[in-house]
Amino acid sequence: MPKWIFVTGGVMSGLGKGIVAASIAKLLTMIGLRVSAAKIDPYLNVDAGTLNPIAHGEVFVCDDGSECDMDLGHYERFLDKPLTRYHNITSGQIYLKVINDERKGKYLGQCVQIIPHLTNEIKRRIRLVAEIDNSDCVVVECGGTVGDIESLPFLEALRQMRLEEGSSNTLFVHVTLVPALDVVGEQKTKPTQHSVQELRRIGIQPDIIVARSEKPLTKEVKSKIALFTSVDLSSVISNPDVESIYSVPENLASEGIVSTICEKLQLSNREIQWGDWKEISESFIKNKEEVRIAIVGKYTTLMDSYVSVNHALAHAGAQLGLKVKVGWVEAECFENQGESYNELEKYHGILVPGGFGKRGSEGKIMVANYCREKGIPYLGLCFGFQLALVSFARYACNLENANSTELEPNTPHPVVDLLPEQRDIKDLGATMRLGSHEINLIEGTLAYRLYQRKVIKERHRHRYEFNQNYKEIFERNGVVFSGFSDGGKRVEIMEIPSHPFYLATQYHAEFISRPGRAEPVFLGFVEASLKRKYVIQSIIHV
Ligand code: GLN
Repeated sequence: MPKWIFVTGGVMSGLGKGIVAASIAKLLTMIGLRVSAAKIDPYLNVDAGTLNPIAHGEVFVCDDGSECDMDLGHYERFLDKPLTRYHNITSGQIYLKVINDERKGKYLGQCVQIIPHLTNEIKRRIRLVAEIDNSDCVVVECGGTVGDIESLPFLEALRQMRLEEGSSNTLFVHVTLVPALDVVGEQKTKPTQHSVQELRRIGIQPDIIVARSEKPLTKEVKSKIALFTSVDLSSVISNPDVESIYSVPENLASEGIVSTICEKLQLSNREIQWGDWKEISESFIKNKEEVRIAIVGKYTTLMDSYVSVNHALAHAGAQLGLKVKVGWVEAECFENQGESYNELEKYHGILVPGGFGKRGSEGKIMVANYCREKGIPYLGLCFGFQLALVSFARYACNLENANSTELEPNTPHPVVDLLPEQRDIKDLGATMRLGSHEINLIEGTLAYRLYQRKVIKERHRHRYEFNQNYKEIFERNGVVFSGFSDGGKRVEIMEIPSHPFYLATQYHAEFISRPGRAEPVFLGFVEASLKRKYVIQSIIHV
């Protein structure tokens, strides 16, 4: 019988509930349990694929092509385990299933209701995770904030699961905020008290409180929270701000969370086998040498829009003994010509990530060209690959007004064009070329040197691709295409051998990067950026 840990959130969103869930899951794997993690998203979208990353953070893509909430990225990075569509449960999926079943006559004669029909489907979906993964323990994070209307059916289902599975098999962890007032620095427990009251109102008494705060909780504050929320003092866990999220498991462990969980779930209390985790997490904080990377995009107002890219850069930096400082630059700045390029001089490498649509695209094309001409390390991912190709077509191959048909359907040179199998697709949900595909690398290329393998597997999310009618003219002008998929039908990687580092991939290399095992193109890119830093320094010194 699996054990269930339900993670809820109070006070407000953005507290790092996903990191807490991932860290708990990680700690439990380190005491030898088979652990799974799943995310509940109470919105009515069936998946995250149609959400705007500015509002909701990046769309994370799994091997199976599911477009998921970004917390699945955290789970994968912490657990180093590929997840699937079954690990992200949304209201959209639940309602769709229940309503479709109703149409099929599954509930004939019954009035179909939130309780029990919706809640039964929720419980079925949650239990399916344990079944698929054959897990000893499943950490289920419920998105949103307690008190939201949308999450009520999910919390009700979790409440029922406690009754059905028993209190020694279920555990509620509530993540809240303990703010401190600037002037006096006093930690305030009232928001936590209120959010626990809200949780109790729907019949859930938390077993553990994880309190997010700037500084560690004082003893008094812990006691106060324990008293007001009816949680044991040892179950009030302080989770203060840290420099790197990879330190969170150690911090939670030092608060005794593992023994508390083991005791409450009647698990034998085993030693945590840290393996190389402490060394890895340390590598994110100990390095001093800085490399500055600019991410040029259009969702730069929310850090979470490119969270996996950010992590992949950090993984590469940590592994190379560096600290990667990321700057976010709005692509549109480069569309009005002139000075904005000076902004780029602050950086040692430039990355153009995935994206959609016209806004900012001309700016990214200009930046891709600038990096090519100035010898600045460039890494393009998906849209950043396609726009590098457009810029190369225009400025190196003299193909005037070359473009992607996504941006200009009537371009005279459609160097990036719709995938043939996309032509008849009308619906926009889950219809891109998605998920993991095999890629064959060409020996003797930069890509091959980075991966040191003939075949790799990477994740995708796109509708457009390089138009191979232009392959020859690109090659004549100095591009090498170094990776292909689908039996040569798809171009996956472009590089310019005469440049210090100019490489772009149709796939999203960021999704499979892991702490301690950075994705190879990120390693190559960060290393090249360090070289650029040295070159700049030597010029200054001369
Ligand atoms: N908009 C481009 C396409 O659909 C790129 C997508 C992306 O960057 N994820 O192919």
